[in-house]
Amino acid sequence: MQKDRSTYTGLPRNEIDWFPRIDQEKCKPDECNFHCVTFCFFGVFSHKGNEVAEVSKPYECNVGDESCKFQCPLDAISFPAREELKEMLRKVRAKYQNKEA
Ligand code: SF4
Repeated sequence: MQKDRSTYTGLPRNEIDWFPRIDQEKCKPDECNFHCVTFCFFGVFSHKGNEVAEVSKPYECNVGDESCKFQCPLDAISFPAREELKEMLRKVRAKYQNKEA
């Protein structure tokens, strides 16, 4: 059975900006044959024409998972810092806790 990916620990996934960014200057699919596209199990990446990869389904990314970053041979993939992730989660949690109160 497929897991519901629309929430993360009860919070709306699409309000948590954790997903990869691609440095378009560094991305050279000729050298990797779009490795990130085939590596990501959740289809976060796709081909943009045939020139560079793009992040087409950012909110399908697993929160806190940056394994694809280490797969890119050209160091073109980056993620927010851990501290930024903590701050994002704190803000979204606070927003929904206040709604419940
Ligand atoms: S693995 Fe890196 S260089 Fe290759 S397509 Fe993805 S982002 Fe671009």
